[in-house]
Parts: sequence; structure tokens; C-alpha cells
Amino acid sequence: MSIYRKWYCTCTGKPIELGSKELLEDEPLEPTCELCGATPSSDPKKTIIYREIEDWDD
Ligand SMILES: [Zn+2]
Repeated sequence: MSIYRKWYCTCTGKPIELGSKELLEDEPLEPTCELCGATPSSDPKKTIIYREIEDWDD
């Protein structure tokens, strides 16, 4: 089992799932809100939330 986080931005009033574009490189890319540009580490309006998803397939 593993746990991963799904990120959401609530800048529109309801949570919108943030897509994290997967790169072929090893550099981790933060999920970014396409509407307001917020990221988990740059979230001035506190609109970023996450949910922890348990993946039982492991
Ligand atoms: Zn946003």
C-alpha cells in the first residue's frame, strides 16, 4: 500500500484537481493551478488543498 497526494485549488469556489505534468526527467514538478498559478509552496491566498489517497494495489 502506498499513499499519495492529490492536489486541488479552490480559487473558483470549488476544488479543482491540479494536474502535475509528468516529465521524462527526474525533476519533480509541482502541481500548478492553471487559473491562478498557485502551487503548494507558493499559495498566497491559501487556496491549495490536498487529499491523501491510499492506494491498496501495491
Ligand atoms: Zn487556483
